[in-house]
Parts: sequence; C-alpha cells; structure tokens
Amino acid sequence: MKIVFATNNLNKLKEVQALIPSHIKLLSLKDIECFEDIPETQNTIEGNAVQKANYIKENYGYDCFADDTGLEIDALNGEPGVFSARYAGEQRSDSDNMNKVLESLKSKPNRNAQFKTVISLHLNNQQHSFTGICKGQITKTKQGEQGFGYDPIFKPNGHDKTFAEMDLNLKNSIGHRGKAVLQLVAFLNS
Ligand code: IMP
Repeated sequence: MKIVFATNNLNKLKEVQALIPSHIKLLSLKDIECFEDIPETQNTIEGNAVQKANYIKENYGYDCFADDTGLEIDALNGEPGVFSARYAGEQRSDSDNMNKVLESLKSKPNRNAQFKTVISLHLNNQQHSFTGICKGQITKTKQGEQGFGYDPIFKPNGHDKTFAEMDLNLKNSIGHRGKAVLQLVAFLNS
C-alpha cells in the first residue's frame, strides 16, 4: 500500500516513519512533487488536519494522511492550541514561541499542559480521524536539544526529562503523535 504523509516537517516524517510497518510505503510531498504551502486556515486542530489531507486528495489524487498538532496549556485557557505554529508571530519561530509560553506562565503556578495530535486519513474516498494526547508540564527553562517545536519545554507526566532530552523511540512510545499513528496503523492493517 502506498500513502502520502502530507508534511514538509522532516522531524514529523522521521517520527512517523519509525512507526509505520514496511509494507506501507510512505510517500513524502517531495515524492509527489508537491512544493506549495498546504493551506491550514481552520480554527481547530481537527479542521486543519482534515483540510491538509483533503487538499492532497483533491489536487494530487493520492490517498493521504495529515497530522495537525497543538500545545494546549491549562493556565492559558488552552492556548496556543490551533495557533501553536504562529504563537509569537508569522515568523513561526520555535524559539520565539517557547519564549512567549515561558513569559506567559511566569506568574502562574499551574503548568499543566497537553499535546494533541489529530491525524486525518483520506482513504478510498472516506475520511477517518485518529487523536493522540500526551499530558505533561511546562518546564521553567528550555531543556534538551532533540526533537523540535516546543519539545524543550514539555515534560510528559511520569518522566523527569523533556521531550527534547529523549530519543525518538521514547518520545514515540509515550507521545501524542505516536499514539495517533498507532491507531492509524491498526486501522490500515485491519
Ligand atoms: P503543526 O502540526 O505542524 O501545525 O505544528 C504546530 C506547532 O506545534 C508548530 O510550532 C510545531 O513546531 C509544534 N509541534 C508539532 N508537533 C510537535 C511535537 O511533537 N513536539 C513539539 N512541538 C510540536
């Protein structure tokens, strides 16, 4: 089976590739010669995932899945959520985004947060969704060099390391994206 993973994010590709069994051939956007920005203009994480998967099906004709992820922080009423990529502005800088979170939480004792990934699958003209959630805490400083995005300031519950201090396999085994991808793989294998 061949299926497109609609992302330009090489970190996401690496994480997902590690969980997909070899009989499912993952095609990247580069493989299908899709070089434009895929629109993400919905106001929910679910909506953006569906929009990205539909865009590839409609414009390129491939069965496809897309992932949209947000960091939801309790003390910020669920922000940055669907605005996670642009939280500190259109430059979409991971460093600026993390600084803004740390600054916003400076005087807040509650540092509970969760990552939420929604994977939307467009297969045989039907849409399916899979959600993965990982609960944790926002740290007071950035810690670690691995991973991407907000990983250096997110410590999953039950662990004493941030995602950025973990190797990919550990992050995948407890993380939001890993949980959603496992549901996707179970569905594709069923
Ligand atoms: P998107 O799903 O690519 O739209 O990501 C939204 C924002 O969340 C971006 O700033 C990403 O860097 C960040 N992000 C997505 N997935 C993760 C993750 O697994 N860890 C940390 N940050 C992430």
